[in-house]
Amino acid sequence: MIKNPNNWAGNYTYRATRLHQPETVEQLQELVSRGDKLKALGTRHSFNDIADSSEDLISLEHFDHVVALDRERHTVTVEAGIRYGQLCQWLHREGFALHNLASLPHISVAGACATGTHGSGDGNGNLATAVSAIEIVTGDGELITLSKERQQEQFHGAVVGLGGLGVVTRLTLDIIPTFEMRQDVYENLPLAQLEEHFDALVSSAYSVSLFTDWQSETFNQVWLKSHVPDGASFELEPGLFGATPATKPLHPIASLSAENCTEQMGIRGPWHERLPHFRMDFTPSSSEELQTEYFVPRQHAFAALTAIYQLRGHIAPLLQISEMRTIAADNLWMSPCYQRACISIHFTWKKNWSAVRNVLPLIEDGLVPFDARPHWGKLFTMHPRHVQSLYEKLPEFQKLLQHYNPQGKFRNAFLDKYIFGVY
Ligand SMILES: Cc1cc2nc3c(=O)[nH]c(=O)nc-3n(C[C@H](O)[C@H](O)[C@H](O)COP(=O)(O)OP(=O)(O)OC[C@H]3O[C@@H](n4cnc5c(N)ncnc54)[C@H](O)[C@@H]3O)c2cc1C
Repeated sequence: MIKNPNNWAGNYTYRATRLHQPETVEQLQELVSRGDKLKALGTRHSFNDIADSSEDLISLEHFDHVVALDRERHTVTVEAGIRYGQLCQWLHREGFALHNLASLPHISVAGACATGTHGSGDGNGNLATAVSAIEIVTGDGELITLSKERQQEQFHGAVVGLGGLGVVTRLTLDIIPTFEMRQDVYENLPLAQLEEHFDALVSSAYSVSLFTDWQSETFNQVWLKSHVPDGASFELEPGLFGATPATKPLHPIASLSAENCTEQMGIRGPWHERLPHFRMDFTPSSSEELQTEYFVPRQHAFAALTAIYQLRGHIAPLLQISEMRTIAADNLWMSPCYQRACISIHFTWKKNWSAVRNVLPLIEDGLVPFDARPHWGKLFTMHPRHVQSLYEKLPEFQKLLQHYNPQGKFRNAFLDKYIFGVY
């Protein structure tokens, strides 16, 4: 039996019967060679069964080191189990940064990239877009490397790999020079402002997040994370399309203390202490929660948000907070932003699955006209056939999984259902 069989939120209990924590690549290869059904486990922050296996789970928590920094080529190679929080501090000390981060730094690099985890920002692709090479132990225990330069086609299929190709052991990430940021929060942005001013609003900072509880026709908070070049002056605008600057630090969920959140009120600081919403040494979000998120092509932003607004009577009673972000298009086959710039509409729900599961179909129906794709690591109720229809590279992805994992060792119930249509 595995010691702690739950995911981070405690809403899912892994069915796997064994948890392995190899310390070397050789031990990992041996485990994979003799296993029948396996799956790599990250830091367990996904809300569904994507990381589960019917037999063996392999945690890479001992694979948490930085392997190499290439100052000339601007890349860092890391072991797959390293958490962003740990990597970012190291990179900053060395004078480098990642282009973006998710709302929390607690997650593993491999787990985040495998599900297309993202932050916000018009020019920012999801976190997997920083990957330039990936090392994997595949179904027969072989260690392979796929790089953007040399195996472009397969690489684009493998990076947002949903854990289906094998166990990722190392990733090489593109890095940029370290930079300073400030975070400013505005309150009470009228939803109607987005109809005319969407582009201006979401491009008003390096990363912009809009939060609403859908209780009114207003976004309760707008978080702006701005790049502040050395020596540059920065005048905070007294208003932002009708929203006004917050007068004290805020948590996105109004009833919670801002102590868990990264510094606000325009105080300058390093990129990795401003890009995530939550601090590494504190609990992110509310912890008693469920999460759902859909990706909609950017051009439909206002129409999609209006469709959600129509459903507020169903949504608001079950909701803690909703967040809207923007993400740049990419070329990663299974990324929800594959070849389309998106907005993401996220829901942090109260921990009441039996009620939430009845509201998700309403939201999903409302978003059908916009071809909304669900977040791979969060909760959704879309029919597997519909999910499959949203990914034009699905047949190639299926072939890629069959090529590297011909015995189906890394297939689990989630992949069977949403990738192979077996349910
Ligand atoms: C509080 C909270 C806030 C969040 N905020 C955001 C956010 O801002 N943006 C966003 O997009 N998402 C967000 N998420 C979702 C989260 O980023 C994803 O669920 C992510 O996949 C979690 O990473 P993990 O390391 O916990 O992976 P896990 O949940 O453990 O695994 C996820 C997938 O990765 C695979 N995997 C993990 N390690 C490996 C490996 N070494 N080799 C091969 N496959 C591997 C697993 O098999 C599985 O398929 C949030 C989740 C929580 C709980």
